[in-house]
Amino acid sequence: MINAYVFNTLQYDPKLCIGCRMCSIVCPHAVFAQNGRVAQLVRPERCIECGACQRNCPTGAITVDSGVGCATAMIRAALSGKEEVTCGDGSTASCCATKDE
Ligand code: SF4
Ligand code: SF4
Repeated sequence: MINAYVFNTLQYDPKLCIGCRMCSIVCPHAVFAQNGRVAQLVRPERCIECGACQRNCPTGAITVDSGVGCATAMIRAALSGKEEVTCGDGSTASCCATKDE
């Protein structure tokens, strides 16, 4: 089991992964990448806990507490001094964009 508790509530168990690639496709922040047969957690610090990967993973390999999603990301960004996480890039509404993307 790999978890990203230092950043957020995202957890990934590669033993359960069947390599369907759904997590890589749906993640708005490229947290997962496909490497061979299974997914790899490559940018856990970028997870905003939106829950899309968990909802689309057919095997339950991913868990994340998406109860408050972006609000949590914004609070963490504020407390850590990171670039503020925003909803949208200013032209379109989105819960999955940051100012630097
Ligand atoms: S919860 Fe959202 S941002 Fe985090 S890894 Fe899953 S799809 Fe990506
Ligand atoms: S969605 Fe689940 S089973 Fe599919 S590649 Fe990602 S972790 Fe593996």
